[in-house]
Amino acid sequence: MHHFHDASAVVRALSPDEPVIINRPHAAARAARFFVEKFPGKSLYAVKANPSPELLQVLWDSGVTHYDVASIAEVRMARTALPEAELCFMHPVKTSSAIREAYFDHGVKTFSLDSHEELEKIVAATTREDGTVAADLRLCVRLRVSSEHAKLSLAAKFGVDLVDAASLLQAVRQVADWLGVCFHVGSQAMTPFAYVQAMERVRVAIVDAAVTVDIIDVGGGFPSIYPGMEPPPLEDYFASIHRAFESLPVSYSSELWCEPGRALCAEYNSLIVKVEKRRGDELYINEGAYGALFDAAHIGWRFPVKLLRDSAEEPSDDFAFFGPTCDDMDYMEGPFALPSDVQAGDWIEIGMLGAYGAAMRTKFNGFGQGEVVETTDEPMFSQYLGDRRDPRVSDNVVSLR
Ligand SMILES: *Cc1c(COP(=O)(O)O)cnc(C)c1O
Repeated sequence: MHHFHDASAVVRALSPDEPVIINRPHAAARAARFFVEKFPGKSLYAVKANPSPELLQVLWDSGVTHYDVASIAEVRMARTALPEAELCFMHPVKTSSAIREAYFDHGVKTFSLDSHEELEKIVAATTREDGTVAADLRLCVRLRVSSEHAKLSLAAKFGVDLVDAASLLQAVRQVADWLGVCFHVGSQAMTPFAYVQAMERVRVAIVDAAVTVDIIDVGGGFPSIYPGMEPPPLEDYFASIHRAFESLPVSYSSELWCEPGRALCAEYNSLIVKVEKRRGDELYINEGAYGALFDAAHIGWRFPVKLLRDSAEEPSDDFAFFGPTCDDMDYMEGPFALPSDVQAGDWIEIGMLGAYGAAMRTKFNGFGQGEVVETTDEPMFSQYLGDRRDPRVSDNVVSLR
C-alpha cells in the first residue's frame, strides 16, 4: 500500500482517473483505544460498518477483542483475519447451517435472538450428533426499543416487544449458560437519553421475567460527526449508560457490552473523486449511489467535502453530485459546499466515509474500481482529538439543520 501525507499529495502523485480510498489507521486506532479505555464495559466492533481486514487488524492491535458479526461470511472473514478474536453472532434471524458452522467450526458461543423459533433453531443447531446439548451458549435476547433519537431507525425489523419479553427471557434462561439482553437504539443516536430510555425498558423486562441476567448489551448507535450533525461528547453517552447499568437489577458479576460500528470506523476512510462534468450547481463525479455514497444518495446523508487545489474562492456554494452510472437515482442532493470555480478535471476529497461508505461499494455498471492508499493527516472531523473541531465554524459546512 502506498503512503502519502494527505489527499492533495495523492492527487499530485497519481492524478487518479478512478476514485481513491484513503485509509487512516491512526484514526481508527485512536477511536478503538478511546472505547477500550473509556467505555465502562466491553466494546464489540460491529463488523458490518466496515469489514476491511486491515481495519480489523488495527482494531485488534488497539485492544478490541470482541467482534459483532451478522452473517456466516462475516464469521469466516473475521475468523480468518483474527484467529483469536471472540466472535458474537448478533443477527436475530440466522440459518441453521450458519449457526452450526459458527458454533462447531469457528468457536462462536454468543448469539442473539428475538423469538422462541430462533431459540429452538439455535438449540437444535448446536446439539451434537450424540444428542449432547450445548452447555456453553451465551444468548442475548434482542429487545425492541425506540429509534426516535437516532438518524437511522433500527426499530421496525428486530426485537421482541416488551409484552412478549418475559416468556422469551425465561425460556432462554433454561438453556443458556449466560443470558443477555441487547437492543439497538438506531444508528447515529444524537443524545445519550436514547440509551437511558432503552435501559428503562430493559429494567421492566428483567423485573417482569424475574430472571438472572449476565450481560447487558447496549448495542451500537454511537454517533460520529457530520456536517450539520454534531453530537454531544461520547463521554456523556458512557456516563449515562454506566449510571443506568448500575441501577439495573442484575447481579454484581454481570457484564456491560456495547457494539459500536460507526463510531469506531467513520474517521478511518475518506475518498478522492474526480469531477467529470459540471452542469450549473451539479457535479458529475466518479463515485455514487452504488458505491461509497450510498447513504448520501438514499437517505440524504451529508459528508464533508474539500476541493483538492488552491482556489481564491471560499467553499460557500451549494452543489449536488451525480454518480457515474447511467441511473437517474445515482444522485446525491447534499448540499456539498465547494468554491464557485470548481470545474471538470478537479479532484474532491469526501470525508468521514469509513462507516457504511467504503463498505457499500459495488461493481454495478462497471464502476467501483480504484486504488486504496494510506495517509497520515487527520480526518476532516474527529471526536477523539482533544481540540475537537466545531463543524459550525468549519469551511466544509454551510448550514446546520
Ligand atoms: C449495525 C449494528 C451495530 C452497529 O451500529 P452503529 O450504529 O454503526 O454503531 C451494532 N449492533 C447490531 C446488532 C447492528 O445491527
